[in-house]
Amino acid sequence: MDRYCVFGNPIAHSKSPEIHAAFAAQTGQELHYERRLAPIDGFADAVRGFIAEGGKGANVTVPFKLEAVKVAQALTIRARAAGAVNTLHFTEDGIVGDNTDGAGLVADIVANAGVPITGKRVLLLGAGGAARGVVLPLLEHRPAQLVIANRTVATAEALVEQFAALGGEGVVSACGFAQIEGAFDIVINATAASLSAEVPPVSPSVFAPGALAFDMMYAASPTVFLQFAARHGAQLRDGLGMLVEQAAEAFSLWRGVHPATAEVLQRLRAQL
Ligand code: NDP
Repeated sequence: MDRYCVFGNPIAHSKSPEIHAAFAAQTGQELHYERRLAPIDGFADAVRGFIAEGGKGANVTVPFKLEAVKVAQALTIRARAAGAVNTLHFTEDGIVGDNTDGAGLVADIVANAGVPITGKRVLLLGAGGAARGVVLPLLEHRPAQLVIANRTVATAEALVEQFAALGGEGVVSACGFAQIEGAFDIVINATAASLSAEVPPVSPSVFAPGALAFDMMYAASPTVFLQFAARHGAQLRDGLGMLVEQAAEAFSLWRGVHPATAEVLQRLRAQL
């Protein structure tokens, strides 16, 4: 039976085995998917060990997404742009590193929430690893404007410089939270502020009427950012759909079949 796993440290909380088992059952694929706790200083060895055991692919989560770039022998365009790898595919030609986080976000916004990105004004809050991973997939949907706002403005400016050359010229710009101008159709919180129950200090006027507010974090109840957005009339979406959709992209890469996600998302939601 083909074997897959998710590497992380810690890893006990990961929902990936349950998601991939559901995808396998639904698509009639026979595979085994497990959690693997990699030592903090032993990620590359853990990957090599898994390949030696016959592993076919792996997901990578905190804190190994940057190290996985070095372990990969080839990178997809989106992984190179993201500077991070969340999916490894062990092929006859070597280890391929991919990043499906951004595709997961875009699929959740466009397909699941039914909100088109094309022609829309998009505000991305944050310029860390999660933000960087979603810029290229967002640009591929040709938004009218993509503003990256961050606490440390220089980090957002570095992203703009990088992505201007990748289809973002004239579309993508950077600023601090206090300098954001105008209202946006889609506001994505990719900061780590929700982890400490903080809201990035943005004006409520960033939400255009009927805007979609998206928080990459998920929890049993809406994050403080989503509560803030709800008070100002936005429709809400948390990061659980993104998690399921990034897994579906990885499954599709490994198995050549794209699973349906609605039922799995519903089940995970009920378990939060
Ligand atoms: P990083 O540490 O790489 O980046 C953190 C970002 O948040 C930086 O832009 C940082 O700004 C900003 N930030 C941190 N604290 C605050 C604060 N109190 N107020 C305002 N801005 C703040 O983290 P990641 O990018 O990896 O992760 C960000 C979030 O995304 C996490 O909550 C993570 O759980 C989530 N995530 C969800 C995924 C999913 O599938 N749903 C996938 C990946 C991530 P500065 O540059 O100034 O330090």
